[in-house]
Amino acid sequence: MNILLQSYGCQMNKLDTALVAAAMEEAGFAPTNNIKEADVVLINTCSVRRHAEERVLSHLGYLKHIKRSRPDMTVGVIGCMAQRLGAGLLEHDVVDIVCGPAQIPRIAELVAEAVQKKEKCLLVTEHIRQQPSQEQNRELDDFESAYGVGDKDIPGRAYVRVMRGCNNFCAYCVVPYVRGPEVSRPPNAIIQQIKKLAGAGVKQVTLLGQRVNAYEYITAEKTYCLADLLAMASDVEGIEWVKFVTSYPSGRFFDEILRAMAGLPKVCPYLHIPAQSGSDKILRAMNRRYAASEYLELLHKARAAVPDIAVAGDFIVGFPDETEEDFQATVRLVRKARYRNCFIFRYSPRPGTTAEKRLEDNVPAEVKQRRNVELLSVQEKISGELSGEFLGRPVTVLVEGLSKKPHLNAADSEGNPQLVGRTATDYIVVFNGPATLAGRFAEIEITKTSPLTLFGEIR
Ligand code: SAM
Ligand code: SF4
Repeated sequence: MNILLQSYGCQMNKLDTALVAAAMEEAGFAPTNNIKEADVVLINTCSVRRHAEERVLSHLGYLKHIKRSRPDMTVGVIGCMAQRLGAGLLEHDVVDIVCGPAQIPRIAELVAEAVQKKEKCLLVTEHIRQQPSQEQNRELDDFESAYGVGDKDIPGRAYVRVMRGCNNFCAYCVVPYVRGPEVSRPPNAIIQQIKKLAGAGVKQVTLLGQRVNAYEYITAEKTYCLADLLAMASDVEGIEWVKFVTSYPSGRFFDEILRAMAGLPKVCPYLHIPAQSGSDKILRAMNRRYAASEYLELLHKARAAVPDIAVAGDFIVGFPDETEEDFQATVRLVRKARYRNCFIFRYSPRPGTTAEKRLEDNVPAEVKQRRNVELLSVQEKISGELSGEFLGRPVTVLVEGLSKKPHLNAADSEGNPQLVGRTATDYIVVFNGPATLAGRFAEIEITKTSPLTLFGEIR
């Protein structure tokens, strides 16, 4: 049987999709990208903003149309939206399977059952904030270890989850309600997985957690924090670069993590550390546990410890009661933080979160839009200045493969196609070179820059 997997959302979801793809392949399903050939369609979903869910619902409408002529096609919804909406999703005619993020180790069984019995199947966590049992954690760990593979689209690179869930309860965020309590994976399982990936040719691993700097695993001998994992991952032969996302701007282990970044050459000098707002009033309402000045202090400390560090941020504009003054405080913070880039989102009330229950979504859509555009343009100028500093300089990139949208010449005079790679600080670099470089490191001299992309030539 042919299976089509579609993925929405963050890196966590990309990783889950890769795990499910590997498990389904082992169960005998053949992957396809062509909906017309698919016997099974699985959609891995995101609930972080309403728009992400709307896209999935409209896609289900399209699949319903296809299923009219192909009634045997089986459709499954997995991931955050499956956990959030549960049985409600099964009411959608086209949906046969609903499977939450904690149940993905069972996905092959569920699909087989739905196909054979022609019955609708539902498997989600009933009490999502209940601490998972050791057995449940072991099942997820084993699944992760067994099917943790490199990125299929990008050779040489892999995500490795070090934590599941989140306990932070930022007022706007649905993640704690769909991914459950924070659980740190055992360090030996993580390192075994990294060794396996290195053996398969992976050169860069990105350690994933919603609040990755809070990683903590206690054994009789020692308490492991993220800095320990960074050191252990650096020791794995074949691994050249170690990155980690996403960091929360307060917590116990920051000094250790910065020391690891400064002292371990394989740990990339890149910190994705969302501030969300520059207004202390809004940060308090968001239940973020720091003031804007403390956040800037942390960046200052990071830059003092790791002078070439690149910092990325996330912001939400139009949170309830955000005044123009609050927004201008965010603009000031962005100017001071000098991010390499920023992800900016318009506030979207999510059912079940404290912000949705207690605060009115009272910033009009057009004001959110205007603030989004203004913040983007402030950031674009800073990104342009920072990327401009690379002009004439050499950079090392891990080559991802062919560039999807040709920026310069599609091919150079020797017929080399346009490739794309990333630096240790996550800059995208476009250059011409042999396609065989994919998954390998290359030295590029930068000849042109734009705010988010560097262009160059192989040295
Ligand atoms: N754990 C990470 C963190 O703390 O930053 C990532 C969480 S979330 C998947 C990624 C980003 O989505 C957040 O940093 C936040 O800026 C944004 N986000 C989360 N909930 C949102 C909401 N209700 N409306 C708009 N943006 C939201
Ligand atoms: Fe959501 Fe906050 Fe947890 Fe990030 S730290 S996943 S924004 S609750």
